[in-house]
Amino acid sequence: MMAGDAGAAVLETKDDGHKISDKTKTKFDVIIIGAGPSGYTAGIYCSRAGYDTLILSGILPGGQLVNTTEVENYPGFENGIMGPDLMIEMRKQSQRMGTTIIDDVVVNVDFRHKPFKVLTASEEYEGRAVIIATGANPRKLGLEGEETFGGKGVSYCATCDGPFFRNQDIIVVGGGDSAIEEATFLTKFATNVHLVHRRDELRASKIMQERALNNEKIKFHWDSAVTEIKGDQKMRQAVLKNLKTNEETTLDAGGLFVAIGHEPNTQLFKGQIDLDEEGYVVLKNKTYTNIEGVFAAGDVHDRNYRQAITAAAFGCMAAIDVDKYLTESADSK
Ligand code: NAP
Repeated sequence: MMAGDAGAAVLETKDDGHKISDKTKTKFDVIIIGAGPSGYTAGIYCSRAGYDTLILSGILPGGQLVNTTEVENYPGFENGIMGPDLMIEMRKQSQRMGTTIIDDVVVNVDFRHKPFKVLTASEEYEGRAVIIATGANPRKLGLEGEETFGGKGVSYCATCDGPFFRNQDIIVVGGGDSAIEEATFLTKFATNVHLVHRRDELRASKIMQERALNNEKIKFHWDSAVTEIKGDQKMRQAVLKNLKTNEETTLDAGGLFVAIGHEPNTQLFKGQIDLDEEGYVVLKNKTYTNIEGVFAAGDVHDRNYRQAITAAAFGCMAAIDVDKYLTESADSK
């Protein structure tokens, strides 16, 4: 199976089995925008199925996992693997299958006509199908200590990092479903979970609120904000400020989980494909967007699971949907 009007890529094979891609080409069967677990997995599947595939990775390839330390829950690594290493492995695996990877930023797309156009500052690429795998970023508090203690106490994913904080006090910031779900999950490990919320009322659904309010391990700090994170090699304390009284208290805690929402990276697609009110890509069916031939995979449409393994799985699903779409569009010619 090869590119119809896109023209087949001439792929030589090195002695080690790695295919050498032609980086001057601009026409592809499939263009994948984004290089997190979903983008790389889609690349592996599309290339392996014989499609001439380009990943435009952005300038910091690897997605959220590049900012993660140890990943213990990605299957296949008995002793865990560092997030950046996992992403390098995925990248190399995708390249070995023949995916062309260009570390450039997409500045515009044109999904009005086929083949679809994907533009960087210096090049215009054409794809018969596009997979949007641009992910989402967790919202940050904007504190200096968030950077200093990132991976050393400060985390944006309880499922990922909770088990590292056994028998310690943990702070969770936020009042939505994510914060409540994370706080409840973290009680499995923590001595106490301190939920810090900026108002005196939770945004989370009633049922989840009740569960958390009845959990003896969760201590609520209403009308409060974290204003400082302190520590040495790792986080040790946080300063909390009551926003009504301005009173400050210092809390001993080994971990701080920020759960104040995510922002999907979809600015680029506004007006081109259907997005929901929070900017997530709306899927019409499976991984199909409202534009025939444009697919989405991973955190860019998934606000629930947000795991490396689920993002990878969505990448696989999108590639299978692309295969079906390209096969059917070739058949109908
Ligand atoms: P969210 O619903 O937008 O809640 C964000 C929370 O963070 C709010 O309580 C907000 O406070 C607070 N917040 C926002 N910016 C802040 C800041 N700068 N400083 C301090 N606090 C800040 O986000 P989410 O909880 O991630 O949920 C996103 C979506 O996924 C929701 O639709 C949710 O229902 C869904 N979800 C569902 C489940 C589930 O059903 N199991 C689990 C997770 C998520 P305010 O309340 O004052 O605005």
